[in-house]
Amino acid sequence: MFKKLLVANRGTIAIRIIRACRELGIPTVAVFSTADKDALHVRMADESVCIGPPAAEDSYLNIPSILSAALTYGADAVHPGYGFLSENGDFAEACQRSGLQFVGPRARHIRLMGDKPRARRIMKRAGVPVLPGSEGKGVSEVRDALADGKRLGFPVLIKAAAGGGGKGMRIARDAGELERLFPIARGESEAAFSSRTMYLEKYLERARHVEFQILADNHRSVIHLGERDCSIQRRHQKVIEESPCPVLTARLREKMGKAAVRAAEVVGYSNVGTVEFLLAPDGQFYFIEMNTRIQVEHGVTEMVTSTDLVKESIRMAMGEELGIRQRAVTFKGAAIEFRIYAEDPERHLPSPGVVSNHHPPGGLGVRVETALYDGYRVPVHYDPLIAKLIVHSDTRDLAMARARAALREYLIDGIKTNIPLHLKILHDPDFIRGDFATDFLRRYEPSSARPSDADALAAEKAS
Ligand code: ADP
Repeated sequence: MFKKLLVANRGTIAIRIIRACRELGIPTVAVFSTADKDALHVRMADESVCIGPPAAEDSYLNIPSILSAALTYGADAVHPGYGFLSENGDFAEACQRSGLQFVGPRARHIRLMGDKPRARRIMKRAGVPVLPGSEGKGVSEVRDALADGKRLGFPVLIKAAAGGGGKGMRIARDAGELERLFPIARGESEAAFSSRTMYLEKYLERARHVEFQILADNHRSVIHLGERDCSIQRRHQKVIEESPCPVLTARLREKMGKAAVRAAEVVGYSNVGTVEFLLAPDGQFYFIEMNTRIQVEHGVTEMVTSTDLVKESIRMAMGEELGIRQRAVTFKGAAIEFRIYAEDPERHLPSPGVVSNHHPPGGLGVRVETALYDGYRVPVHYDPLIAKLIVHSDTRDLAMARARAALREYLIDGIKTNIPLHLKILHDPDFIRGDFATDFLRRYEPSSARPSDADALAAEKAS
């Protein structure tokens, strides 16, 4: 058993990890920036330590500060959560070098999957289907991108080799667009990931995002816990996720699940991970990437499989064996997660401020993961995700009814949130039928929030 675990994160995921540790009997150390001194994760942990000023680079991304906090407070394990340092191979390696067990995969797997062209190559070789795209190590120059675009046929998606969070991604519908958008996407990648390496992928129209949850112990056992449909996205970022995927047949689930397990097995992966696929309308599926950490949306899988994924990640990091075989994994009912953001729903702009009244919904099958409380000031420095509502019921229809009731009950005064948008989606006939693809949310984009790529870039540069 770990002696003490340092939680290298903040907000809902830090609280989620602290809860899991408490159940396992592992004392926790929270880290926080000066902007978070009153944050709930700080109050909930057994001990806490300030690691720097508000800017993430100076605190939650500051590897020396976090390591010295862990060593000073006598921790022997570090859980990175999601975001921040969770997919930073150098951090995982630095933890191991300092004698701290990193709760996650080995550094080399983080690096491998973080290099998307390389991950694509490995998957292709292993027989996991990938979309036609740039071969080799990717492209950095417009002329090479144009050659790839012509070979693949339009539309293509320009992607950042080191990408994440939808950054550095642009759809190009013809050569002219590719020539114009490639430098913009590359600029975004340079700013976000300090990398000029891009790659192209054939753009798949009307695709669904279907991902598989993987559990892999250090003893070469790998299983999957079924899928999540995360097609409800805004600008390539997930907003609603559900399990099971409303259109997946048992046969296709088995086939995709096997491909996901193979993806983890071929690289010798360990701990929790997610293999992401695009599912085409004709039933073909394609690997897009593997996330080497716990996902924001892990809760829906927990509800339908009755598995505590965070506890599992800790147990596996302690070297324990998976206690369950693939055949024994069962799925019960339907679960849907709604990401609640502090944002103005009309204009999709962040809405930080003081929460004057917080009354989360409750009742059977209603789970709220949040770090909010009355009087809490939502800081401007971090991701505006303030709560996750997860509903679970026997069927998808019942889960949607439960979600409508819960979202109406959810009171958050003082700041604006996207709860009204979730309610609109829950009354949309296509959503209700489960008939949607990754472009679904475009119909709810206010025209003011739908600038062209060039406009968006110009606005960003001007601000
Ligand atoms: P990131 O790591 O930035 O999240 P992903 O590769 O996971 O990037 O893709 C994010 C989303 O972008 C997907 O869920 C999907 O909606 C869309 N997407 C990615 N690749 C393609 C593609 N080839 N065709 C169509 N949509 C895609």
